[in-house]
Amino acid sequence: MNTAFLGLGAIGRPMATRIAGAGHELTVWNRTGERAERLAKAIGATHAATPAEAARGADVIITCFSTSADVLANLEGPTGLVAGLKRGAVLVDCTSGDPGTSRRMSEMLAEHGVSFLDAPVSGGVSGAEKGALTVMVGGDAAVLARVRPVIDAFAGKVVHCGAVGAGDAVKAVNQAFLAIHLLAAGEGLVTLVKQGVDPRVALDVINASSGRSNSSMNLIPERVLTRAFPRTFRLALLEKDINIAAELARQSRVPAPVTQLTADVFRIARGELGEAADHVEIVKLVEEWGGAEIK
Ligand code: NDP
Repeated sequence: MNTAFLGLGAIGRPMATRIAGAGHELTVWNRTGERAERLAKAIGATHAATPAEAARGADVIITCFSTSADVLANLEGPTGLVAGLKRGAVLVDCTSGDPGTSRRMSEMLAEHGVSFLDAPVSGGVSGAEKGALTVMVGGDAAVLARVRPVIDAFAGKVVHCGAVGAGDAVKAVNQAFLAIHLLAAGEGLVTLVKQGVDPRVALDVINASSGRSNSSMNLIPERVLTRAFPRTFRLALLEKDINIAAELARQSRVPAPVTQLTADVFRIARGELGEAADHVEIVKLVEEWGGAEIK
């Protein structure tokens, strides 16, 4: 298929690489142009100067920006996506977005004969490199079936969640789980260290018990105990995600004090640690507040 990929950040780069590797014709665009130029050269793709140029002639256009607002900002205007999109094309937005903005974009694009799917992903940079991402999709199931050959290039599991916005909603709640589990694991393990327990011993028990999570099984052993804290997924983006989940709970009139509180803690952490920090670095703050390191 003739494809375009826009947004070559930490996760977008390996996703685009998988699409080119699967043999699809690919044009790439990135706001910071040299990133797109470099990647295009490395993977045999074409590099476009504007979103409109990237979209021109493409059957499937994938966007992967920071927020839904960033996607919306690149839709209109003389160099925006709409100026290049052909009727019958499908815009697959892999941004972890918010359902309201996705529904608005879907309506705008429908006026131009373009279909929209919200298709956020999970599985991290390593999952993208291996083509093993979980993709949660909102929109028309028949449209999803048409674009599956492109999504399958980076997906291990694709789930149709419902109408436009449903993929974003599932993603936001998944991210709330991640944020809550990570914060809870950090707090619990700092406490255990101060109680004189070796965190490796504590994790050995917890990971064979009912308190285990992806944070206790993978993130803390691989990134905290090693003190490696690699930067693969920015804390600022997780703060964005849990705020979407908190807002959805409010809109749905669901009392969700744990989600709201964790959203506030991540807002404080974003202010303290800055825009470049990785999400796991929240544990460094918990260590600082508690006066002990998990190591
Ligand atoms: P990065 O911060 O690494 O990259 C963000 C990308 O979006 C860059 O290409 C950036 O361009 C572009 N961008 C941001 N704002 C705009 C704008 N206004 N106009 C045009 N381009 C813009 O983020 P990630 O790649 O990590 O994440 C992308 C999305 O995927 C986010 O929604 C995130 O929540 C989600 N995600 C990330 C995962 C991960 O492990 N990293 C895992 C699962 C989902 P530029 O290069 O010019 O800055």
